[in-house]
Amino acid sequence: MHEGSCHCGAVRLTLPSTPAVATKCNCSLCRRGGGPWVYFEYGTVQITGHPESTMEYIWGDRTIRNVRCKTCGCVTHWEPLNPEPGAKQGVNLGNFDPELIASVRVRRFDGADTWKFLDEE
Ligand SMILES: [Zn+2]
Repeated sequence: MHEGSCHCGAVRLTLPSTPAVATKCNCSLCRRGGGPWVYFEYGTVQITGHPESTMEYIWGDRTIRNVRCKTCGCVTHWEPLNPEPGAKQGVNLGNFDPELIASVRVRRFDGADTWKFLDEE
């Protein structure tokens, strides 16, 4: 079990499995303070302190909410606004143990432009 939390501990997340790959995205939001992201089926990540200790930010095509702790400001995760069966959510791996972070392969994703992984070419 991998348990992580924001810096102050108000928001805690438990992953359903060990991630092998994470994504570092360069879009206008992620490049400022998101990720690396790991993705799971919506609802399978156990989260405490949300929404009572969190703030949300919704932008662009308004399909997901980006969530951060309202005390320490750390970005914890994103989730779909209108989840459909099989929908994904993202978790900011930076809230987890440094050894876990170091063990996960990080792929750079060009969310700013081509929506492709930059290591695909
Ligand atoms: Zn916090």
